[in-house]
Amino acid sequence: MWVTYQRHWPVIELPTAAGASIAVLQEPLAGCFVMLNPMATILIVEDDALLLDALTGQLQQLEFGVHTASSVAEATTLLQSQAVDGIILDLGLPGADGMELLTWARTHIAGLPVLILTARDGVEDRVLGLNAGADDYITKPFNMQELQARLQAMLRRARQPAFTQASSAAGGASTTIGPLVLDHASHSAALNGDLLDLTQREWELLELLVNRCGEVVTRDDVLAAWRASPPEPGQTAAPPLNSNALEVYVHRLRKKLDTSPLAIRNIRGLGYMLNRP
Ligand code: CA
Repeated sequence: MWVTYQRHWPVIELPTAAGASIAVLQEPLAGCFVMLNPMATILIVEDDALLLDALTGQLQQLEFGVHTASSVAEATTLLQSQAVDGIILDLGLPGADGMELLTWARTHIAGLPVLILTARDGVEDRVLGLNAGADDYITKPFNMQELQARLQAMLRRARQPAFTQASSAAGGASTTIGPLVLDHASHSAALNGDLLDLTQREWELLELLVNRCGEVVTRDDVLAAWRASPPEPGQTAAPPLNSNALEVYVHRLRKKLDTSPLAIRNIRGLGYMLNRP
């Protein structure tokens, strides 16, 4: 989906504080800037040589840089000398368990996204992995396309727009975009100082759009976020979480934002994007 936009949007260079420049796409209509997907480097930790080869080949085809390791010790050594943008981590490894690497990475490398790829398919295993700080969890056997999609989604999440990170850092747990202020701790949003009346799903959708303002949020991204969150309080039968439901929520959210310059745009065939005012 990034590639589509690279073809049509002009690429410009912006200077950074460090004196280097970053390539960004200029959205032609709204003047939004979207960072190009820079080539990411992934560490694959996997002791099954065939699978490791297959994964490496696939990711290299997608122009990822790839490092490989077949044990926790090897991975730890590599991570001390090489910078990577994300890890695909098997859990059943010879010697130390993959969970040990996850714990190590969480305490040694801030914000490094980790996707667990394992044969352990029990709910307790998933909960254990996600609670230990994994960003995603896929069980074997897996679909390569799904793995790619979820890997890319994980990397996108790790690369929130700089302005969002800056305002989160400056203001604690809140994000401000024009007249809209999101308080991430209380799950509340205010527009021009007035609290918005949002359902849980509307909040989740809005937070996703705000965190990735200027980027396309795909329908799958939203549906995955919804499915990962608890059912809305007070609902005896949860409505199905599908594209139709999403359209309804987007419609409602637009109505709640319609007094503001914020616009949720349809990106045909892909999803939605919140434009900066
Ligand atoms: Ca294994």
